[in-house]
Amino acid sequence: MNNPLLADWDTPYGLPPFDKVQPALFAPAFAQALPAHLAELDAIASSGETPDFDNTIAAFDRSGRLVSRLSLLFENLTSSETSPALQAVELELAPTLAGHRNAIYLHDKLFARIDVLHARRDALDLQPEQLRLLERIHLDFVRAGAKLPEAAKARYGQLMERMAELEARFAQNVLADEAAFALPLREKADFAGLPDYLVAAARNAAAQRGLPEGSHIITLSPSLAEPFLSFSSRRDLREALWRARVSRGAHPGEHDNRPIASELVSLRQEQARLHGYPSFAHYQLADRMAGTPDAVSALLEKVWEPAKAKAAVDREALTEMAKSLGEPVPIAAWDWRYLAEKVRQQRFSLDDAELKPYFRLENMIAAMFDCATRLFGIRFEERHSVPLHHPDARLWEVHDAAGKLIGLFIGDNFARPSKRSGAWMHVFRNQSGHGGGTLPIVINNNNFAKAQPTLLSFEDVRTLFHEFGHGLHGLLSLVNYERLSGTQVLQDFVELPSQLFEHWAQEEAVLQRFATHVTTGEPMPAALRERLKRARRFNQAWETVMYTGPALIDMALHSLPHGTQVDIAAFETEQQRILGIPEDIGQRHYLSHFQHLFGGPYYAAGYYVYMWAEVLDADGYDAFLEAGDPFHEETAKRLLRHVYSAGNTQDPTLAYRAFRGRDPRVEPMLAKRGLIAAPAH
Ligand SMILES: [Zn+2]
Repeated sequence: MNNPLLADWDTPYGLPPFDKVQPALFAPAFAQALPAHLAELDAIASSGETPDFDNTIAAFDRSGRLVSRLSLLFENLTSSETSPALQAVELELAPTLAGHRNAIYLHDKLFARIDVLHARRDALDLQPEQLRLLERIHLDFVRAGAKLPEAAKARYGQLMERMAELEARFAQNVLADEAAFALPLREKADFAGLPDYLVAAARNAAAQRGLPEGSHIITLSPSLAEPFLSFSSRRDLREALWRARVSRGAHPGEHDNRPIASELVSLRQEQARLHGYPSFAHYQLADRMAGTPDAVSALLEKVWEPAKAKAAVDREALTEMAKSLGEPVPIAAWDWRYLAEKVRQQRFSLDDAELKPYFRLENMIAAMFDCATRLFGIRFEERHSVPLHHPDARLWEVHDAAGKLIGLFIGDNFARPSKRSGAWMHVFRNQSGHGGGTLPIVINNNNFAKAQPTLLSFEDVRTLFHEFGHGLHGLLSLVNYERLSGTQVLQDFVELPSQLFEHWAQEEAVLQRFATHVTTGEPMPAALRERLKRARRFNQAWETVMYTGPALIDMALHSLPHGTQVDIAAFETEQQRILGIPEDIGQRHYLSHFQHLFGGPYYAAGYYVYMWAEVLDADGYDAFLEAGDPFHEETAKRLLRHVYSAGNTQDPTLAYRAFRGRDPRVEPMLAKRGLIAAPAH
């Protein structure tokens, strides 16, 4: 019983006792916490009282806090600060944790009580949030197999356990391939075209991997790889890097993700069939705003051909540029970023290296906090000397306008080999108990290349704001029941708060105040801001093609009917041909490392959600533009009430309508991507 993971966490704010956490403590902690949770559920299920909202639904929502505290800590560590020891525990525990989930959702006696209440829900005289919770929990059970015939339940349980194991392995394999690769820069010629900040970041990356002083490497981390592909005039090195990136997870041997993905697709087909859906995509979409695969296709098809046509026009400009530089044509995928950067510089006399000194990480953190203050009245105060999971992570108290503590925010911004790539928000604790119950502990992870000082590209700035938008969704949550709090909304609604927040990163007033030069302290000149704005519309078609291709492949793959055996490599090649994915553009993600699809279940048949939410965010931001003020008070109030603080207490279609006063229109998204002419404001 002296396992510190199980003891009361009498730490500041109830944070995990990071200084006492050891990988070996997790298995024994779960071994006690999981049965304790099931005992709680047994007590609810076998209560002699007639089922009512409080003794069944609210009691279920309150149960298992010890397990969720442990699981959240475990998930955060395995993503942000893992180790071989922790990875071994992760693989060992994946089926156990999936098995626990099955034990909850396939608990017949418990579900019987929930089902009775659900059938009588209109007669129970519930508050809207209570009714929503009852419906949500009932649906969680149904979607996890509670209504399956007894014989099917055993098989369902096996499927879930096997899939959890495969997903954990898939993510670890990507990390292994990323950790194994480095492009060394040795000779002077290897540095051709690289801006100073990138050379500095390459030196830091080498130091981080323990290479001798003075070494430089480019890793597959986007904050190194993206600028390298944009600036390096060494075509051979660009090609080597591009190929290494594309082939992650596709090397024969112990880290090969192709058989794992193929098996996952088959198991998901079987899962969907047990539920009575024609495909896994149908099963997934049934619990999303979009509702059906057809609704998703209709949206993606609106952009696919127009984006390719627009990219073809850009390709001509890039080809001309290649010829003028004496580079070979036709251009290849490892040339596109490089040539686009050259065209961008020529047309808008703008390059990333000129912009970057204005985007110091520290200033951009101040900018995003300031936007949150102006919109929602909250304030951030940094707290030092509280131990966190890594020395680079930082902690802020979050206070409302009246000065009351409403949550904790952790920012973990730098890339390191022990962190998975990409950027994401997670929690160590969810909000619940409406204002005064449990305060949220939210974490944002980025993978910026650490330097002194750290300078960001404008894409990085957008990512920083994006994750902070998710962070605010968790921090501002003001609901009673944990299941409905924060970001636990439908998957194609969850990107609205994050993508919407990106818009403020591009606001004149924000750039004017916070984009100051790292050495001179001068604000970014108005002319440069204007060039940045115009240049940002350039090459949008390439972005759209890079994103939409994989979204279409995801839908095609997960729409296959039960019993279809798939070789994912062959399937992907076939789809590339059917869709006509331009070879010189390629895909943002390829199936062998597509973590959205195979690193977990949530974004499977769901890569489209970013574009779905973009319809909402582009239309939603227009509400501020129409009001004539990016911080318009009344609009911000409605946004807070119906989106950022509302969690899952309302149907998302109704929530959006309440904020906007009408349903969303698709045109602002199409205009933002340059696929139709922009409307005037
Ligand atoms: Zn997001």
